[in-house]
This record gives sequence, C-alpha cells and structure tokens, in this order.
Amino acid sequence: MVSIKENLNNIGKQVKAAQEASLMNKGPVTLVAVSKTNPAEAVLEAYEAGQRVFGENRVQEALAKFKPLKVEKPDIVLHLIGPLQTNKCSEAVALFDVIQTIDRIKLVDSLVKEMSKQDRFIPCYIQVNTGEESQKAGVMPADLKALLDHCRTVKLPVIGLMCIPPVDEEAALHFSFLYKLAEEYGLSRLSMGMTGDFETAIRFGATDVRVGSGIFGERDYSEQA
Ligand SMILES: *Cc1c(COP(=O)(O)O)cnc(C)c1O
Repeated sequence: MVSIKENLNNIGKQVKAAQEASLMNKGPVTLVAVSKTNPAEAVLEAYEAGQRVFGENRVQEALAKFKPLKVEKPDIVLHLIGPLQTNKCSEAVALFDVIQTIDRIKLVDSLVKEMSKQDRFIPCYIQVNTGEESQKAGVMPADLKALLDHCRTVKLPVIGLMCIPPVDEEAALHFSFLYKLAEEYGLSRLSMGMTGDFETAIRFGATDVRVGSGIFGERDYSEQA
C-alpha cells in the first residue's frame, strides 16, 4: 500500500534539497501533483497532507473530478498539463487556474476570447516540442518566437514554458535548452521534470515539477475508455 502522505513528504524533501543544490534555480519550486486516472479520494488525501496544487491532462476527467472538489476546497490550484482542443476552451478557462499547454495560434485566439468573456485571465505556459517529435504536442522551437509575439499582441498572459522530453533522450539536454529559451524570451516559469527526473529538472532551473506516480503510485489505465 502506498501512502500518499508519505510520498508527498519524501518528494517535498527531495524538491527542497534539489532546489538548494541548484545554481540555476530562480525561486521556490511548485510541486504539481498529477492526479490523472486517480479518484477524488486520492486528491483529498493529498490535500489533507497539505498539497494544494494539482495537475490533470484531460479536460473531461478534470471537470468530473475537480468541479465538485474546488467547491469543497476553494484553495485548490489546478493546472492543465495535457493538450487542449479549441472546443473545450470555455470549460477549461472556467475550471483551470493555469494552462501549461499553449501550442498554436488558433488556441491562443480561442482562449483570449473565452478569458475576455469570462473576465478570467489565467496564467499560461507555452509547451515547446523540444525533441521536435511529430506525434507530440507543443510548438516547434523555430516557431516559438512567432507564437509568443502573437500571445503578447492579443494579451494572453504567458508566464513560462513547458516541455516533455523524448523518452529515449537525455532529459537534461532538453531542460537546459528550455531554460535558455525562457531566458531569451524573458519568461520566469519553467515547467519540466516528472517522477523520474524532477531532481534533474530542478538542477536545470525548473520552477514547476509535475509528479504523478511518485505521489499517487503507479497508474491504472484499465478502466479508461
Ligand atoms: C502524466 C504526466 C506527468 C506525470 O508523470 P509521472 O511520471 O507519473 O510523474 C507529468 N507531465 C505530464 C504532461 C503528464 O501527462
């Protein structure tokens, strides 16, 4: 049996130690507890242990789980870390507090429209496809500048960058690349690092780490459609 509280405690210590050892760290690191595929009870257990920031990768799953949870616990902060379709922007803007997966102009325009309509301008990150993998979401590095310029023109509040390195490559190369891009474009937040590599990510300047299985245990996908 995994204890979510114990896992959180251990990871919290590792985050702190990595942060203190990092020469590139710019401030406190936010631990985003990725609760996808886990039930609301697991989220509540983490909440009781002091965790407030959570991440989900699918809008529908997040709605079902967190809409009621956020009524009960209004200080929960929810990040979207998976791809967003333009037809889900209305629900996403209403539910999430941070969107980490901006990757195309059409999405930027839909989000700005929704944010204006709901008068709710939530901070966003641009997801960069640092490995230039065709099957993966994220803007190609060469197209980042144009996308960011567009965000700034239409006033989407972009505060950082996010990446998911290719599984078969040294993650540190991608982390340091994303760090350099953030420096170049004057962005202060860097979402990178998961259960297997969050300490490395912090060493290379991560301000947000996304940890799922390290907190909630191995995921069970058997009941998913
Ligand atoms: C699932 C997921 C994570 C968490 O992965 P773990 O290896 O379980 O820590 C982090 N980031 C994204 C984008 C994810 O989809």
